[in-house]
Amino acid sequence: MIVTYSRNVFLPLTRNCRNKCWYCGFKSEKISIMQKEEVEKIFLMAKNAKEALFTFGEKPDVYPEIRKILRLWGYKNFLDYVVEMNKLAISHGLLPHTNAGVLSKEELEKLKNFNASLGLMLEQAVELECHSESPGKKPEKRIRTIKNAGKLQIPFTTGLLLGIGEKEYDRAYSLEVIAEIQKNFGHIQEVIIQNFKPKKGTRMENWKEPSFEEILRTVELARKILPKDVAIQIPPNLIENIYPFLKLGANDLGGISEITPDYINPELPWPSLSDLRKRIGGFTLRERLPVYPKFVKLKLFGSAVSGLIEVYSDEDGYARFGSF
Ligand code: SF4
Repeated sequence: MIVTYSRNVFLPLTRNCRNKCWYCGFKSEKISIMQKEEVEKIFLMAKNAKEALFTFGEKPDVYPEIRKILRLWGYKNFLDYVVEMNKLAISHGLLPHTNAGVLSKEELEKLKNFNASLGLMLEQAVELECHSESPGKKPEKRIRTIKNAGKLQIPFTTGLLLGIGEKEYDRAYSLEVIAEIQKNFGHIQEVIIQNFKPKKGTRMENWKEPSFEEILRTVELARKILPKDVAIQIPPNLIENIYPFLKLGANDLGGISEITPDYINPELPWPSLSDLRKRIGGFTLRERLPVYPKFVKLKLFGSAVSGLIEVYSDEDGYARFGSF
């Protein structure tokens, strides 16, 4: 059995965000956007990486100071800047995967050509108190974004965040919502099962984390509910003992970076590949691109990344270099 991972670099373009999720340790009120030079510096260090993971706060343009910076730099809005950074990544031989939060169909279309795939965590398909100050976390808005990506046939990553106030049956319902979308559009490549980790200084710093058994049960449930062509990803920096999850059907370990931290959980460093190989028992570790093999073969990725994908992919659609 094959377990995949992607070699990436993580670009937190801004920590300014219109939402206020009670568990978030990433958002900052200090106005700041990563400058082109900072972004490029990371690309230049990204020797083995093939993926540029763009993750940032949702709709930072709500801040007038952000709009002012963008105007000074010659951009109409934040998404135009993101597209420019996507293009810069491609020019450095990296395949962009962007998580921009809730987007309209037009905004998705804007990103589509310059990305190998896009992502948006559903988190949970039910309203939760921790999202009461986060307009972008309304389940219907997130579901609409995922469906619109389906209409545009954009390979897509989504996932569940566990332990943020949902009940066990909410998890099952959220997985059923994703399964239904997949049956209608077929564009979902992976579903991340991510466990909540409390962050100091947040409203949920004293919340209990979901137990190992709960995460295990959710992966088991996900494998039963989701169609077989959807991979299940577990984060190997948040879960130490990954082997039982692989036995239950998890088959992806997400992005691993040699040079950038997990900015969402900076206290938990990425494991090395040699460490991962030890932790997966008899499974075979194989590098994939930010677009999954099935979609590589179907050529469902942004037109601007097709040249790179041709160079980086093998005949099965996995990464050509770095297979084990
Ligand atoms: S949307 Fe993301 S960055 Fe924004 S507050 Fe919520 S968790 Fe933090």
